[in-house]
Amino acid sequence: MYRKNAWEHLADGERAKVMAFAEKYKAYLDAGKTERECVTEAVRLAKEAGFSDLNAILREGKPLQAGDRVYQAWMGKCIMLFIIGEKDIECGMNILGAHIDSPRIDIKQNPLYEDSGFAYLDTHYYGGIKKYQWVATPLALHGVVCKTDGSTITVSIGENEGDPVFYISDLLIHLAGDQMGKSAAKVIEGEQLNIIIGSEPVKEEDKWNVKANVLRLLKEQYGIEEEDFVSAEIEAVPAGKCRDVGFDRSMIGGYGHDDRVCAYPSMAALLDFEGTPAYTLCALLTDKEEIGSVGATGMNAKYFENTMAEIIANVKGTESNLVLRRCLRNSRMLSSDVSAGFDPNFAGCFEKKNASIVGNGVTFNKFTGSRGKGGSNDCNAEFVAMVRRICEDAGICWQTAELGAVDVGGGGTIAYICANYGMNVIDAGLPVLSMHAPWELISKVDLWMEYKCYCAFIKDAEEISY
Ligand code: MN
Ligand code: MN
Repeated sequence: MYRKNAWEHLADGERAKVMAFAEKYKAYLDAGKTERECVTEAVRLAKEAGFSDLNAILREGKPLQAGDRVYQAWMGKCIMLFIIGEKDIECGMNILGAHIDSPRIDIKQNPLYEDSGFAYLDTHYYGGIKKYQWVATPLALHGVVCKTDGSTITVSIGENEGDPVFYISDLLIHLAGDQMGKSAAKVIEGEQLNIIIGSEPVKEEDKWNVKANVLRLLKEQYGIEEEDFVSAEIEAVPAGKCRDVGFDRSMIGGYGHDDRVCAYPSMAALLDFEGTPAYTLCALLTDKEEIGSVGATGMNAKYFENTMAEIIANVKGTESNLVLRRCLRNSRMLSSDVSAGFDPNFAGCFEKKNASIVGNGVTFNKFTGSRGKGGSNDCNAEFVAMVRRICEDAGICWQTAELGAVDVGGGGTIAYICANYGMNVIDAGLPVLSMHAPWELISKVDLWMEYKCYCAFIKDAEEISY
């Protein structure tokens, strides 16, 4: 059903399924506050659903068969899940892609200092944030500290009841005359995002010292020395669990919906798939989308292509580059990322006929980008038609949208990168309010329609001849 309110079109008994799926998603969101944690949880869920580690299969030289379920994690920050299909892999795959990194505040490599009775961690934010939203709110610290002896210390502080949290201060309103006159971009500046982590000094060589006390506690409780921050990746994120929003509990507020609200159902569609698919299925959860898909774990890297070369060598017994090219070219993909949900408070930034409406279901963006579609993957109309048919056949509430009104702004996803292979790719996702804020808002019925759409797509999408 196109552009209809999904709550009004649920089948008898379907509301309970909406709510039950939302609970599973909430658990994933709470377990995965960093890309690494998302991968760890994905591996756990994949194993539970009978998926095997592809690396072990390749090492043993075991041939993959139709119906086999495998996963491969990459650098602990990306994960790919596959179900091998009946058809020749040259016919391409049905792929669900999304990203698992979210905007946040990263700790610098030389972060620790003391000033006026406080110990601080200095930071450099990650992704596009309104910096003023991240002050005067409880923060948790998540990440890893890699030691020179090869060991890794995993850190997660601030989520459990009884854990301490961390804090970035804002200026009191009483003295904020000048600050309130600044543009929002300057109200809090990047170098003011300093996290308070302690204030009780310890006496060291006759001098009282707050930083020394923090270092003592880090050493005692975690085995971390000051220089270890150099080889650490620690992310400050909003502390606490996601929550139901509204008297009707129809929505979820939480950190990191962008883009775990697409990543989780993409993965779940494969985890829940029963039997042997016609085409090989893939769920691809990638990293670094929020900073341009760069680095060894971003979509611009070759890890996905490398994994496909390994799978093809296994199932086809060939290292032919041509077979790999055909497989990728003939694939079909929903590149899923959140859409800008129409917000009546800011109606002027949208064009309502082409906006993603909360409650109207899974959203397709034929293109993203900005200023005349710049930087977008402008999906082929033929593929849009196939996606329409799949949604209609499966009784899914769906809609189409652009990211805001023309020339107001814009944004990109991983779609254009996968489209480089020649595959058919369309941006899919669901509407989010307050995207990139510490707490974002989504609708449970949109999440459900998104999941149903992914399940239908991997089952029903097929090759397109042009
Ligand atoms: Mn995103
Ligand atoms: Mn984003």
